Amino acid sequence: MGRSRNEAQAIARQKVAQRYQKSIQKKLFRVLRNQQQEAVNRIKSNMLPIPPDLYRWGLDLYDAQIEDGQKAAYAGWQLAEEQAGLKTKGLINPELDSYDFIIGIGLEENFLLTPTITNVDNYFAVTSGKEAATHAKKITTIFERVQKEIVDEAGTARGLSSSKLASMLQKELTYTKSYSTLIARTGSIWSLNEGAEQRYISAQVESKQWWATYDELTCPYCAEMHGKIVATQTNFIDPGGFVIGNTETKVDDDGNVIFPEPGKGKEIKLDIPDYMAISHPPLHPHCRCTILPVITDIEG
Ligand SMILES: [Zn+2]
Repeated sequence: MGRSRNEAQAIARQKVAQRYQKSIQKKLFRVLRNQQQEAVNRIKSNMLPIPPDLYRWGLDLYDAQIEDGQKAAYAGWQLAEEQAGLKTKGLINPELDSYDFIIGIGLEENFLLTPTITNVDNYFAVTSGKEAATHAKKITTIFERVQKEIVDEAGTARGLSSSKLASMLQKELTYTKSYSTLIARTGSIWSLNEGAEQRYISAQVESKQWWATYDELTCPYCAEMHGKIVATQTNFIDPGGFVIGNTETKVDDDGNVIFPEPGKGKEIKLDIPDYMAISHPPLHPHCRCTILPVITDIEG
């Protein structure tokens, strides 16, 4: 299979993912802004910016993403089926009962009979908690900086009105759009690829291949991963693992990875969090790689 056909498949995936990304981003933007407002209001009331029940922020972030995440996974499932002309040979893990609510979205039975919904649900549950913690840390860092700046200007830590602090904090909280875009992109790409992987599994495709598009190949990690093949239902990288890339690794027009000669370029390392297996892309924020099925026996 030549590069151009794989490239076309990967780009089609990106385009579909973008639809869900936009929808998730809008909802996340609102949630993150409300959480920032809550932090500002707490400062006005002489409290620390972050509420003690931070898990609530995580739940809000989960709620903002889960429905589109499930839809993106289903879109990934359908697209994978179309692109590779897959036929269902076996379905695993039928846990339909607990997911009645998803049926309202209009997903098909074959999709419901896979672990996709559980996996997508777990992904957003875990990442939403991490995102809430990151959001809280961003606000705290900015708050502490603002607090310090005011103290430095005045030369004293006393006599600082809470409403002045609150309005200064509000002015500094400017990352909402970029942060919501980052989370939405990562989540939609993950879901889409999860759907694709589950479609391969249900068609008993034995192996999957990591595929980076041209615009991803400047990233040494994605260039390193490009073309790698592992069995379906296994990880490219286990939780807590890492990938080492080289700034001089290239991919040629046929899609072959060209590694630099020893001593050339600069090696860099990407650590994978211990709560996340890399069974498919994304590998890092802004990663737009995908997975393709390795089909050796077309007759089945
Ligand atoms: Zn990538």
